[in-house]
Amino acid sequence: MLPDLTDLVLASHNQGKLREFAELLAPWGVAVTSAAELGLDEPDETGATFAKNALIKARAAARATGRPALADDSGLCVEALGGAPGILSARWAGPSKDFSAAMARIERELAARAATTDARRRAAFVATLALVTSAGEETTYEGRVEGTILPVPCGDLGFGYDPIFRPDGHSRGFGEMTSQEKHGIPAAGGQALSHRARAFQAFAAACLPPLNRSAPPA
Ligand code: IMP
Repeated sequence: MLPDLTDLVLASHNQGKLREFAELLAPWGVAVTSAAELGLDEPDETGATFAKNALIKARAAARATGRPALADDSGLCVEALGGAPGILSARWAGPSKDFSAAMARIERELAARAATTDARRRAAFVATLALVTSAGEETTYEGRVEGTILPVPCGDLGFGYDPIFRPDGHSRGFGEMTSQEKHGIPAAGGQALSHRARAFQAFAAACLPPLNRSAPPA
C-alpha cells in the first residue's frame, strides 16, 4: 500500500533543493510545503551518514507538524580527498554559504595531491531521501551519480557545487545544464541523471502511483 503523502512537508531550508523537489514532484500533483515556510527549526545534522542525517531532518519535521515529511541529505564525495567534503558539503561553504570558497578549497586540496588528470579527479554526488510518515514509518532511498571534478567552475545554473561537477557521459557540467537536463526525465520513465533525481526515482517507485506514460512529461 502506498503511504499517505497528503500535506507532505519537505524538510529542507535549501532553496536549490526545494526548487528541484517541487519540479520532481510536479507530475504527480503532490502539494508540498517546506520546513522553511512553516518556520521549523533546522535540526543539527549529527549523523555520520547521509541516511542518518536525512532521517534526523525528516523525523524532526514529522514530529513538529504531525504530517508526513520528506528530507534529503546530499553532498559531493571526491575520491582523492577520501570522500570529502561528503556529509560536510554544506559546512565547507561556511555560515555565509560561500560555495566559490568551498569549490576553491576542493581545487586547492586536489592540487596539493597533484590530482590533475580526470582519473585522479573522480567524484560522486550522493543523495539519500528519507520519508517519515505521520504514523512514524521510516524509509530511505539513495541515488548517486559519478563524474569528474572540473578544474575551473563552469556555468551559473544550478546551485552549490554544480559548476565543478561533470557527470560521466556528458560533455557539460551540472552548472551548464538546465534543471530538466540535470534531473534527466524520470517522470517520463527515462533514466534519471542527478543523484537527487535517482533517489527520487526510487522513492517514486515505492511511494507514488505510476504515472500515465502516454501523457507528455510536465
Ligand atoms: P545538506 O543540506 O546538508 O544535505 O547539504 C548538502 C550540500 O551539498 C548542499 O548545501 C550543496 O552544497 C551540496 N549539494 C547537494 N546536492 C547538490 C547538487 O545537486 N548540486 C550542487 N551541490 C549540491
